Amino acid sequence: MEEKSYLVIVQCDIVMERCSGFLCEHAFNTRTGAFSDYSSKKPYRTIYMTCGGCCGRAVHRKLNDLIRMIKKVEKVKKDQIVVHLASCITRDNYHASPCPHLEYLKGLIEGKLSLDLKEDTYISKKSTKLREKGIYRK
Ligand code: SF4
Ligand code: SF4
Repeated sequence: MEEKSYLVIVQCDIVMERCSGFLCEHAFNTRTGAFSDYSSKKPYRTIYMTCGGCCGRAVHRKLNDLIRMIKKVEKVKKDQIVVHLASCITRDNYHASPCPHLEYLKGLIEGKLSLDLKEDTYISKKSTKLREKGIYRK
């Protein structure tokens, strides 16, 4: 993760109608869940955004805008950016099943925009137990 300096956390637009996104931010701040590999000593920059709603097509425009602006204003290159798809997109969770457009989203981010992509953000203990019991599939 040393080469990365900018994290983009993409969250499910539907879930964000009732979630503040705090637990994603908390997980990053405490370097837990999917953020455990990031050094707490490095001052990473972060930005949080939703997918823009089904089918997630807007994520391409939003990230494209970020890539352009961040290069123009701060000279940050694409390979310094990593995108995390929030756990409410990638996994069975309290709010819903994984996003039915997950592969499409991955194709836009990794395929079309050539950005590094990671799955998951906050990992809930309760959801982990439900996965172990097979109640949650993913
Ligand atoms: S992963 Fe959890 S905390 Fe993060 S946006 Fe989704 S529902 Fe909210
Ligand atoms: S495309 Fe997926 S992540 Fe986006 S709002 Fe629809 S279900 Fe949520």
